[in-house]
Amino acid sequence: MSEETQAKAPETSAPAAPQASSGPSSSSGPRPGGGRPSGGPGGRGKFFRRKKVCKFCTEKIDAIPYRDVRLLQGFVAERGKIVPRRLTGVCTKHQRRLTRAIKQARNIALLPFATRH
Ligand SMILES: [Zn+2]
Repeated sequence: MSEETQAKAPETSAPAAPQASSGPSSSSGPRPGGGRPSGGPGGRGKFFRRKKVCKFCTEKIDAIPYRDVRLLQGFVAERGKIVPRRLTGVCTKHQRRLTRAIKQARNIALLPFATRH
């Protein structure tokens, strides 16, 4: 007489999880193969070190051609500022001439003026 009517009523064991996603999903997924060895020899300066010898002295350029834009651009930063000679290694004599040449080049629109930030 033991009708095993152990009707295990499956009480709808689905507690309807509200999908509580842990944490915001703003994290941009898995990184694509990051094999980068971070922490290499960091650049101490933006400007690579040149020889501490004036370029114009070594090449014996007395008068700096202000029309030579490529030459002048080597001494002008991106914003149009003249790079200080401590970074370029130009001697004072040539730095002055270089400055004049750059300013001349600006006047004839070969080089941009220093853009205001
Ligand atoms: Zn020089």
